[in-house]
Amino acid sequence: MSIVLGAIADDFTGATDLANNLVRAGMRCIQTIGVPDHDLDADDVDAVVVALKSRSCPAEQAVNDSLTALAWLQAQGARQIFFKYCSTFDSTPRGNIGPVADALLERLWATQQEQVKGEQTVMVPAFPVNGRTVYQGHLFVGDRLLNDSGMQHHPLNPMRDADLVRVLAQQTPHPVGLLAHATLDQGAEAAQAHLAELRRKGIRHVICDTLDENDLTVLAETLVDLALVTGGSGLGQTLPEVYRRRGWLAPVANAGQLAPSSGAALVLSGSCSRATLGQVEHFLTSHEGFALDPLTLADSDTQIEEALAFARARLDETTPVLIYASASPEQVEQAQQRLGAAQAGELVERAMARLARELVGTGVGRLVVAGGETSGAVVSGLGVTELRIGEQIDPGVPWTQTQVAGRDAPLSLALKSGNFGGVDFFTRAFAALGQGATS
Ligand code: ADP
Repeated sequence: MSIVLGAIADDFTGATDLANNLVRAGMRCIQTIGVPDHDLDADDVDAVVVALKSRSCPAEQAVNDSLTALAWLQAQGARQIFFKYCSTFDSTPRGNIGPVADALLERLWATQQEQVKGEQTVMVPAFPVNGRTVYQGHLFVGDRLLNDSGMQHHPLNPMRDADLVRVLAQQTPHPVGLLAHATLDQGAEAAQAHLAELRRKGIRHVICDTLDENDLTVLAETLVDLALVTGGSGLGQTLPEVYRRRGWLAPVANAGQLAPSSGAALVLSGSCSRATLGQVEHFLTSHEGFALDPLTLADSDTQIEEALAFARARLDETTPVLIYASASPEQVEQAQQRLGAAQAGELVERAMARLARELVGTGVGRLVVAGGETSGAVVSGLGVTELRIGEQIDPGVPWTQTQVAGRDAPLSLALKSGNFGGVDFFTRAFAALGQGATS
């Protein structure tokens, strides 16, 4: 079976965000971690999102990894390719959005000309429900321009200009144009005519205005025949409906249907973000938890053994258990001063990876992980390469399912980046699975 949409995401949580929107819009979706070394072995899949780590690496590596992902997605029969990046257009003046979009377009042009309507692609970063909109090519976060939104201070890719036409023009030798809201307002035909006009002028990249969901709907209709679209996860809300109208995608009753979950419930939290700290505190008012401390972990593995014993004594199918390193900014600073930030983080991540491996090996079947880096460590500790995306727990965070060594039944896994989720996320996540583990 061929997939309809093949997506290449420049980071892990961004990939999940897109996959989550696709499932909600009715596509059965798999997220892979890196490019698989084998063909897709399921035939009930409409979209695959390949998660790379290509946002902040050197442009050449981002291009190479993205082209490898493209080749794999083409081999799975993808009709349309989606290059997914952050809704705040996270990139440096040298890339990687421009170089990757150019490379993908050129490869598509070379390999499947009949599907490519001219050598042109679009940039649709907007995600209106999260307050990311684009007007006259300028990106807003809520009511602030991008360069006044806090993103100007980002440690890896500070965004100091909200004019995306100008930002992208620095990342590509090719001209950049604009599909403005006034044109979108006239509908998909007018928008397509404008794109064709820009194509005739040799304009390869087109930044698209997007004020609201309605614009995303018009954009999906406008762009469905392009071999390559690029943008944030917002466009993932509206493309599937157009695929269905084209007859490319069969309607399914529940695209996020997963196998029944089983096994004990565990939360591993290595995030120190404000939302997670609130979730940990809330959970501990009614459940038991074990606190890890990087200063103690630095001395020996004794604390990991204690955490394992604590969990094993309590794990059952009805009550989730928490192991956490989440700590206040003062505690984190203290650990970082003694150990260095990298070493403190690594000690915690290594501990979490080992705890996940050992506890999944002995009965955990439902696992929530809090923290982006922590999730990365746990997923690689478990050797996970593929996730089937299930139903959303809170915006941007779905349950997923995967097969892991040492466990016959699938493992249910929810990976939450730091600032996501309501205060009762941990208990609600298990309740959403519908069996046990609710209190
Ligand atoms: P978030 O998604 O909230 O940013 P991450 O998991 O990405 O969470 O990052 C949190 C980082 O902080 C990880 O590297 C983790 O190992 C580290 N960390 C967790 N607890 C502590 C602690 N008590 N002291 C110092 N560093 C910690």
